[in-house]
Order: sequence, then C-alpha cells, then structure tokens
Amino acid sequence: MEAENKLKEKLGLKPDEEYLCFSLMGGAGIIKCEDCGHQEEIISFVHGIMSCDIGRQCPHCHAFVVEHNEGQEFHAFGESREDFVCPECGAVTRKKEEDILKGNNDPLFCPKCHSARLRYIMSYIT
Ligand SMILES: [Zn+2]
Ligand SMILES: [Zn+2]
Repeated sequence: MEAENKLKEKLGLKPDEEYLCFSLMGGAGIIKCEDCGHQEEIISFVHGIMSCDIGRQCPHCHAFVVEHNEGQEFHAFGESREDFVCPECGAVTRKKEEDILKGNNDPLFCPKCHSARLRYIMSYIT
C-alpha cells in the first residue's frame, strides 16, 4: 500500500485516486483525461481466432498504439516475435525476448498533458 501511495504521489494523484493501466481495461473504448479533457478511442485488448491486438502506450511520446500479434493460439501468448516500434516516434518499446504482457500494470498517461487522471469508458468487450 505504501509503495502504491508513493507511486500515486509521483503521478500527481491523491491516495484515493486510481490510475489506469491496461490490465484493468478490456476490449476497446474511449480514454478521457480529467485534467485537459483530451479523449481518444483506444484498443486495450481485442482478440481474433489466430491473432490479437494489444494496446500499448509508448513510454517515449505517450501515444496510444496497437500491437498486432499474429499466429498465436487462441488465448495463448508467447513471446512477441519482433521488437515493437512506435509508429509515432520510432521508439522501441520492447525487445522480443520479453513477455508480451509486460507493461500491462504500468500507469497510463494522457498523451496531451501527461496527467495520470484518466478515465476509460469501454465501448465493447471481446
Ligand atoms: Zn490531459
Ligand atoms: Zn512513441
């Protein structure tokens, strides 16, 4: 708890405010910033039969991006085959040896004002 409050303090949140992370979200929806009002449609996690789309936030430019992961068994994750390169700024966010769900518990930020005070409104679940 203490560590979590420290993290919230660092994020500029009060102890009773929650931050968003992909592991708390599902499907696709709209993310809304409570500070600057910015909103955008994002994908958290959407799966198909032999592939899935995994939402990520670039740690460099804070753009919400989607990683397409192909050829995986239904509901099973392996290692990602390639480094993920941010389409916005070109930053490499993960090496292929790392687990595909790494970063799922990291706090998300508003891409515009970098506030952690975000809300997620799910529009559909897969
Ligand atoms: Zn904002
Ligand atoms: Zn980026």
